[in-house]
Amino acid sequence: MLLTPGPTPVPEFARKAMSDITIHHRTKEFEAIFEKTRKLLLEIYNMNEVLILASSGTGAMEACITNLTRTKALTINSGKFGERFGKICKAFNIEYTELKQEWDTPACVEDVVNAVKNDKNIDSLFIQVCESAGGLRHPVEEIAKEVKKINPNIMIVADGITALGVEKIDTRNIDALITGSQKAFMLPPGIAMIGLSDKAVAKIEEKPAGYYFNLASEIKNQKKNTTAYTAATTLIIGLGAILEKFKEIGFDNLYNQTEKRAKATQEALKAIGFKIYPKVPANAMTTAYTEQSNEIRKILKTKYNVDIAGGQDHLAGKIFRINHMGLVEDFEASWAVNATELVLDELGIRTFDGTANRVFAETFYKGN
Ligand SMILES: *Cc1c(COP(=O)(O)O)cnc(C)c1O
Repeated sequence: MLLTPGPTPVPEFARKAMSDITIHHRTKEFEAIFEKTRKLLLEIYNMNEVLILASSGTGAMEACITNLTRTKALTINSGKFGERFGKICKAFNIEYTELKQEWDTPACVEDVVNAVKNDKNIDSLFIQVCESAGGLRHPVEEIAKEVKKINPNIMIVADGITALGVEKIDTRNIDALITGSQKAFMLPPGIAMIGLSDKAVAKIEEKPAGYYFNLASEIKNQKKNTTAYTAATTLIIGLGAILEKFKEIGFDNLYNQTEKRAKATQEALKAIGFKIYPKVPANAMTTAYTEQSNEIRKILKTKYNVDIAGGQDHLAGKIFRINHMGLVEDFEASWAVNATELVLDELGIRTFDGTANRVFAETFYKGN
């Protein structure tokens, strides 16, 4: 049972959709598929433009920096992925300043506002919606709103790789919203998407930048349902199938189910003595702090067939992360907390009495 917060399991209907022969990307047949997928993407994004890139999520992060920063970037670092925005700036010799917090701490709106007020060179802000390193939710919408009040021309770039498809994101003040295929969209890795505001499109078109990640040329092509270079045809077919399924379920129903799963998992883990690591948890995953993380994960995987993620860098061996993104079955999420409780018994930490499963069921089904 793969319950890591990316990659997530690819459902059977998506695997079937992607199992047909490879079609040529410069054909009417593929343009029709692209058009259908693009329309569904625009719907789930609720933005005016969207681009599909053949790269992992990091490629889209890089594209946003190279296409939207002219003078100086402000990057928010509460974990590995926030740190990555700074590393990309460095690699391209782009000036940046970073606001750094511990991995359990979301960005403070006031600190961001002050940073923007005190530095007139800042023309772009880079932040995660959910920072997957510790599973926290940044107050992105509030930050975006306050920064736009100071200067509406500052580009707000949000990495929603573990947020789009998980929860409803208010995109009114967001200029670029990034996602990837292998998290909430349950596809194999290989494509990334960027939703764009009209302001972002205007800035990109005013001064096209880069070659492979030249977003101006992608905008021009993708408006005509084609791509500048060879499209990742198979993955785009899979994306179309996933988005059709999401629409059939209803986007809001999908978000509600995910939220309920996250809440029930957190309550269940707290009830058996775990501390939830982030100060503001995102719904994409539940992150618990424990010095026994490695032992717990090992037994979960070998004895109970539950594969969850650990931590990275200074959190290696100190946290575990359970995925809620995508179409996780209730019984899978419930089994994960039940198995965790069994492991605690085995490690002599806490005697098993079925609390995790009971609290999960009460929270999930009875809304306690
Ligand atoms: C997974 C992830 C990324 C990186 O995406 P890749 O597809 O590995 O390049 C970036 N940001 C967040 C928040 C992620 O969870």
